[in-house]
Amino acid sequence: MAAERAGGGGRARKVVPKSDHDFVTGTSYAPAPESSDHVKLAKNYDLFIGGKWVKAGKRMKTVNPATEKVLAEVGEAGAKEVDLAVKAARKAHDSVWGKMPGRERGKYLFRVARLLQERAREFAIIESMDGGKPIRESRDVDLPLVAAHFFYHAGWADKLEYAFPGRKPRPLGVAGQIIPWNFPLLMAAWKLAPALACGNTVVLKPAETTPLTALKLAGLFEEAEFPDGVVNIVTGGGATGQALVEHPGLDKIAFTGSTAVGKMIQRSLAKSGKRHTLELGGKAAHLIFEDAPINQAVEGIVNGIFFNQGHVCCAGSRLLVQEGVAEEVIRKLKRRMETLVVGDPLDKNTDIGAINSQEQLGRITKLVACGTEEGARCWQSGQQLPGRGYWFKPTLFTDCAQSHRVVQEEIFGPVLAIQTFRTTEEGIEKANNTPYGLSGGVWTDKGSKIFKVAGAMRAGVLWANTYNKFDPTSPFGGYKESGVGREGGVHGLGGYLELQE
Ligand code: NAD
Repeated sequence: MAAERAGGGGRARKVVPKSDHDFVTGTSYAPAPESSDHVKLAKNYDLFIGGKWVKAGKRMKTVNPATEKVLAEVGEAGAKEVDLAVKAARKAHDSVWGKMPGRERGKYLFRVARLLQERAREFAIIESMDGGKPIRESRDVDLPLVAAHFFYHAGWADKLEYAFPGRKPRPLGVAGQIIPWNFPLLMAAWKLAPALACGNTVVLKPAETTPLTALKLAGLFEEAEFPDGVVNIVTGGGATGQALVEHPGLDKIAFTGSTAVGKMIQRSLAKSGKRHTLELGGKAAHLIFEDAPINQAVEGIVNGIFFNQGHVCCAGSRLLVQEGVAEEVIRKLKRRMETLVVGDPLDKNTDIGAINSQEQLGRITKLVACGTEEGARCWQSGQQLPGRGYWFKPTLFTDCAQSHRVVQEEIFGPVLAIQTFRTTEEGIEKANNTPYGLSGGVWTDKGSKIFKVAGAMRAGVLWANTYNKFDPTSPFGGYKESGVGREGGVHGLGGYLELQE
């Protein structure tokens, strides 16, 4: 891949060796590694079914993507174990949880929320070790949001009638829930908290590369003394997920992951009678107008695509910038990219951690090479990458055509495709011109322009003069190939209830 490199005119770079890694930072901060000595990981984890830890016939390894070291082995559930879990969930629903008064269910959820707050540090460290995301993000974003989701939904458990006036809300029954690796614990909270608050029981399948925090969370459900079988956690890969989707004993499938797998799931659910919500991929665009606060916008772009390695479904992976400020924005963006700290996810200075897996690194590398082959101009910042683990430099493409794969396809890595526009209409037209419609950002000084653009963008979530802000009270979900249904807020509750007249 012929990428332009950052020139030698930038600030001096200093090599900072750290603990057992020899990570190199883009700036000269002293290392500030979060200690992981107190974190207790078992060598092996079983499946959590019916309130017990059940051995699976097969096992698989989970690896720290920053070091390539095996962290633990976990069970790989087959159809038999999935069946056990669904039956345990059904029994718990019919005998206890589905009948329990909402205020009692709420108490259990409040208990888990408080336990999560108490154990936030340990969970944040494990999340960073297993997934590769910077500790700053796991600690300051993921864990507070995870606890907030449980608190928020605990509050709804005894007020469902008020959320849907004139209707009788009833739980659906048993939900099968499948989640990806980019926000492992947060996605688990998005799924579990509303389902449980509404009186459903669940079988949750975490992603194969990031099973550890979900398994640790199972321990918290035990500590909170949830009735057996209310929450079941089965680890495994795509085959485990498929076995769950195809199980006839479920009332609902809630899936978050790629559009390709989401489409397969939707096909397989057709005529099954199971309800479903699908939270899928995205290719969000930032629209930067000439009257935008440029420095703030540059920070927003960096936050939107480079933090968390671009492993965010609503990552702002496209930048549409009005011609008059394009040169300034790109210059400032490159300068800011040079200062990003790439390396040890457990270092508190780190902005960009490890790519989640070798497979994902391969996908990013292939699509970036394709961008150059198709004629876009690739630029990468000059950080040196650590020798071990999976890493990718902050990358941007200019001279992009609308048809280029880097403009149309989700890369799910720290890669930004830049295009320009002249009029508001052209900007909106380009922003909407992908198969996705999950999110977007608009940057302008004019409130009226914000409303005009927000009304015309075909995206489920729109941020104005900010980016990537989340709250459990806000519904989240996509248009077009970005998904079906909404999660979060009152809309999300509706996805786990039958609303009788
Ligand atoms: P993925 O689709 O490969 O896997 C997601 C989950 O589905 C994993 O647990 C996986 O084991 C399971 N799975 C794989 N094949 C399956 C099958 N045939 N049947 C049932 N389950 C199966 O996605 P990923 O690579 O883990 O995650 C990245 C994707 O997730 C990106 O596309 C991203 O945009 C999307 N995502 C979307 C949201 C959202 O809210 N819209 C949030 C986070 C991530």
